[in-house]
Amino acid sequence: MIIIMRPKAPQENIESVIEYIQSRGLKAHLSQGEMVAIIGVVGDKTRLDNQNIELLDGVEKIMPVTESFKLSNKKFKPDPTVIDIGGVKIGGGSFVVMAGPCAVEGKDVLLAAARAVKDAGAAILRGGAYKPRTSPYSFQGLEEQGLKFMAQAREETGLKIVCEVTSQQAVETAANYVDILQIGARNMQNYELLKLAGRTKIPVLLKRGLSATIEEWLNAAEYVMSEGNDKVILCERGIRTFETSTRNTLDISAVPVIKEKSHLPILVDPSHASGVRKYVSALSMAALASGADGLMIEVHPDPAKALSDGPQSLNPSDFKLLCEKLRPVAKLIGKEM
Ligand code: PEP
Ligand code: MN
Repeated sequence: MIIIMRPKAPQENIESVIEYIQSRGLKAHLSQGEMVAIIGVVGDKTRLDNQNIELLDGVEKIMPVTESFKLSNKKFKPDPTVIDIGGVKIGGGSFVVMAGPCAVEGKDVLLAAARAVKDAGAAILRGGAYKPRTSPYSFQGLEEQGLKFMAQAREETGLKIVCEVTSQQAVETAANYVDILQIGARNMQNYELLKLAGRTKIPVLLKRGLSATIEEWLNAAEYVMSEGNDKVILCERGIRTFETSTRNTLDISAVPVIKEKSHLPILVDPSHASGVRKYVSALSMAALASGADGLMIEVHPDPAKALSDGPQSLNPSDFKLLCEKLRPVAKLIGKEM
């Protein structure tokens, strides 16, 4: 449930409501708007007496939150969450572009990719060091050495870095290097991994599971947030449908649905959604128009030689062209890119 305070309720009223909730063994999450403070309550509601709360000074009303996700729920926090990663803002009025190779393959290829995406206007470099491949015989990633190359690329270009983690050991190692931990589609419901990522307090990019509903996805975000990490970035990357022309089906409607249900930023990954390079540009434009907060795009200096996901990777010049197409549209709809 949420407790809505009266407009401009004094700080001491807000504090006593929070104290009351905590004294009953529940958790209180304050969302302080310009006029109105909203206190979200998580825990066993049977320990609370709603009538008592309504009598506390400054309380306007109490409303139930029927959805199973609470901290990620827009009712708990009406204002959009903006995650600031060393000056790179994700959410709110900005449109962030993350780009880079599917996998970190080696230092030189990675640096070439990093320079190219930086030059085109990306703010964040992506690159997998732990690759969850469909076949155990495919390239599995360079692990810690890959993270070291990513950190070197950050050093050289000033780009922030995001890498996927697939295990407890990967979380512990990656926490020493990355700006954003990525939880991939295949691990969206790996609850132990979500909790571990939550405990690091490092921003988490949470991809939608291959066949996850939006509600399941927001509950996965809730696992990260319930560990005290409210820096969750959602990423729609296509879902499994009967369609075979594309690798997955980009669920563009997830963007406005998430915007209605949650305050968390949402990005779109048109590369994994389509699996086909020639569709990436159109889907990126659709993502921007739909209200997404940014993109994650696979870019490789020489896609034909990529060790993974070459067919969906853009080359540097196509990526640059795409950024040039996105920029005026972003400006037109009031997004900073
Ligand atoms: C990735 O971004 O490298 C990746 C494996 O994507 P997904 O988890 O969406 O399949
Ligand atoms: Mn990939």
